[in-house]
Amino acid sequence: MISVIVPCYNEEKSIRNFHKAISEVMKNQAPYELVFVDDGSRDDTLKLLKEISYKDDAVHYISFSRNFGKEAAMLAGLKFAAGDAVIIMDADLQHPPSLIPEMIRHYYDGYDQVIAKRNRKGDALFRTAVSKLYYRLMNKMVDVELVDGVGDFRLLSRRAVDALLALNEYNRFSKGLFSWIGFEEYVIEYENVAREEGTSKWSLPKLINYGIDGIISFNNKPLRLSIYFGLVITFLDILYILFIFFRILLYGIEVPGYFTIIASIMLLGGIQLVFLGVIGEYIGRIYYESKRRPHFIIKNTNIGITDQDLHTNRIGQKSKV
Ligand code: UDP
Ligand code: MG
Repeated sequence: MISVIVPCYNEEKSIRNFHKAISEVMKNQAPYELVFVDDGSRDDTLKLLKEISYKDDAVHYISFSRNFGKEAAMLAGLKFAAGDAVIIMDADLQHPPSLIPEMIRHYYDGYDQVIAKRNRKGDALFRTAVSKLYYRLMNKMVDVELVDGVGDFRLLSRRAVDALLALNEYNRFSKGLFSWIGFEEYVIEYENVAREEGTSKWSLPKLINYGIDGIISFNNKPLRLSIYFGLVITFLDILYILFIFFRILLYGIEVPGYFTIIASIMLLGGIQLVFLGVIGEYIGRIYYESKRRPHFIIKNTNIGITDQDLHTNRIGQKSKV
């Protein structure tokens, strides 16, 4: 069986079309289930999901008590999915269901991750340029490899899903996690599709924060960089102090020095604040991890679960046994 996981946040306009399109494709493929995760939508998403689930036995839904974010929604989907393989895709039809047969074929060929990679046709030029630059810098810094255009649209084997579920961190950066678990990958390329209904939930500040998450989640290089930078600055400082010291020995004390003092105070102050921020960012993460809060809270679902189940992975499988 194959599980299709669909995070939905305010997708009332897309859900019906999506359900139709995906069912059309899946019925010719393999036994399947659709796991919709309503991420605390404020529109009629949940109502529509319930409606669809009455008519279609393949439809399962999980509804969160509030908006926990797409990462949490995907995690819930992975925990509940009972399939031997899992496909994660968006509800807005930007991930074309027509790619699925090919993805499943490669899964049968033995690949544990089949990744659908989009090109950037139709994206704003500015966003494309910034993304390209980001990935170039990012791959220099982080330990895992991230590829531009590769998102969450992918098929994962049961082995890969279990590996992901074993990573229980609170701050989840899936793009990095997918790459971290490894396994054989196969990449399919597809043409970028514009969103048909509703609006994207990504604003520029959100994207910037996501970018920073990506860098901080996967390594301690920013901390290491701070040390090197600090060492270089200290070294330059020592040279400068020696220079002034010998000048005083040779020419005596010279009172005017306002510019150099202010300049060094400002520069060092700025650098220190930046690195305090870097350190704070890591401490913040430790703080969140140490609370061990759940990633999401379920308000409503048509999958039978008990409290006990919530603490184990593969909830869907368990409930169906
Ligand atoms: N999504 C979600 N929770 C959120 C934001 C988005 O579950 O807090 C879902 C959304 O419903 C969609 C998918 O994640 O199915 C991708 O979101 P969107 O289309 O807004 O992102 P984009 O395609 O612009 O990257
Ligand atoms: Mg989208």
